[in-house]
Amino acid sequence: MAYSAPNHGPAEIERLRTQVAACTACADLPLGPRPIVQIGAGARILIAGQAPGRRTHLAGRPFDDASGVRLRHWLGLDEATFWDPAKVAILPMGFCYPGTGRSGDLPPRPECALRWRQLLLDALSNVRLTVVIGRHAQAWHLPETIGLSLAESMQDWRARWPGTILLPHPSPRNAGWFRRNAWFETELLPVLRARVARLLGDLSS
Ligand code: SF4
Repeated sequence: MAYSAPNHGPAEIERLRTQVAACTACADLPLGPRPIVQIGAGARILIAGQAPGRRTHLAGRPFDDASGVRLRHWLGLDEATFWDPAKVAILPMGFCYPGTGRSGDLPPRPECALRWRQLLLDALSNVRLTVVIGRHAQAWHLPETIGLSLAESMQDWRARWPGTILLPHPSPRNAGWFRRNAWFETELLPVLRARVARLLGDLSS
């Protein structure tokens, strides 16, 4: 049988988006399935996150909260650009709100990544920078860092640059980490913002 190359165009992205939107594989989710992803064929930046929180589940779009405000500041993006699927793809490890446990939100549903992640990553063929946020996304995208602390994992960020960057979760709960790691703000973020601006402004990057 002749090899046929995968279709990575807008039609394939739309087909996958429709399939994801209809997914009900996890029937026991506390608020029911409501997959929240942002994908577009032209997206040059991928944000690989964790899973929607309750507020995001209700709002229906990713990072529509205090964490999102900080993440947009880190990336140097306004809201219109951040939520433009033609520019930025947002793929959490689990697409639906997994519920809350005694110490915060539950982990992303593992069956979600197994079912969808590689299909969507393969279709996002224009991505030039993957922004990895949270330990579950870190384990998938940067398996060599499993077992290391966040600070240890981020120390050699230049070795993965410019294709991938690991960030702390922008949640206000991590304010202590931000204070203890001031180098992140002064050394890493200016480089990140410049790369993001170049990627979204110059199609030859
Ligand atoms: S978490 Fe993923 S696999 Fe489960 S219902 Fe939502 S989209 Fe489907």
